[in-house]
Amino acid sequence: MTKTQQVRLAERPTGLPTADTWTVTTTELPELGAGEILVKISFISLDPAMRGWLNDVRSYLPPVGIGEVMRALDIATVIESTHPDFAVGDTVSGTFGVTEYAISNGRGVQRVDLSLAPGPTWLGALGIPGMTAYFGLLEVGKLRAGDTVLVSAAAGAVGSVAGQIAKAEGATVIGIAGGAEKCRMLTEELGFDAAIDYRAGDVLRQLRTVAPDGIDLYFDNVGGEILDAALANLRRGARIVLCGAISAYNEQKPPPGPSRYMSLLVFRASMTGFVVFDYADRYPEAGARLAQWLADGRLQTREHIVEGDVSQFGDTLNMLFSGANTGKLVLAI
Ligand code: NAP
Repeated sequence: MTKTQQVRLAERPTGLPTADTWTVTTTELPELGAGEILVKISFISLDPAMRGWLNDVRSYLPPVGIGEVMRALDIATVIESTHPDFAVGDTVSGTFGVTEYAISNGRGVQRVDLSLAPGPTWLGALGIPGMTAYFGLLEVGKLRAGDTVLVSAAAGAVGSVAGQIAKAEGATVIGIAGGAEKCRMLTEELGFDAAIDYRAGDVLRQLRTVAPDGIDLYFDNVGGEILDAALANLRRGARIVLCGAISAYNEQKPPPGPSRYMSLLVFRASMTGFVVFDYADRYPEAGARLAQWLADGRLQTREHIVEGDVSQFGDTLNMLFSGANTGKLVLAI
């Protein structure tokens, strides 16, 4: 019998999750049945979408139920197996949750190749954030060489990859991030052409300075006032990729809609939302290209690893909402 600590949803938060949102329990897992694996988790992915999964609303995935183990994608090692496709010692990714150990029937579990990249990168640039950046830019945003591309939350997991893909594909890339250090990293380390510190104020003025002719593509991770600034500086035929709106995830009332939306009409522009899971059958294609960019140095990965145990999950998750992370936020247990 294997004992495991797990983080469960205790109550639905209003606003930012607090200590009362979570409860840490210890559970004994049953013996393995036929066709199952027992995994030991090493890395837990922290994702802004987790905040949405705590709300009892209709969405692209059902909400996490009160008392359930919090849903999370993990990197883990197989330590027992009765499954024909997985051997003891395999490193895998799967939605095992916020837990130390888990039993799985193997559905949705992928083997990961640590010779290509370390575990946390498989939750970041080579994982869902990388896929999101790839399909969001190339399929939804229809990126073209020569485009002027604006990316928000640009120092984060999705944004940092999106900006680098856009550079690799011949675009001029402007990133928006919170703070001078993140902006320095974007331009000096990740190859962005310009960076805007939204905490320094007047994003629209800063944007008009670095992109006086407007932008062709806005990869929006944050919504709110930054989306309005982007709308106010479009070029004809611009595309806005609605990837996320983290500025609103902890709001208790729906925020006001974009006040500049008439720019879509004036500039014959479009704004399209997407969910990365819709491209699941094409992940291998994206993975191969991202791995190639990684190998030839056009893609650099950034991971922000917090060392600890599952009980630190709640505090670590909130780092996403204060901007305390740079790159993919991961809890190493
Ligand atoms: P991340 O960017 O690594 O972390 C979140 C970042 O958001 C923070 O570091 C912070 O950076 C920024 N932020 C937080 N609150 C903000 C606010 N009020 N205003 C402006 N910026 C704020 O997270 P991620 O995993 O890469 O996710 C980025 C976005 O992609 C999220 O909106 C997420 O929901 C979305 N997403 C969508 C899909 C999809 O299928 N559509 C899939 C994955 C992720 P600063 O320091 O720069 O503020």
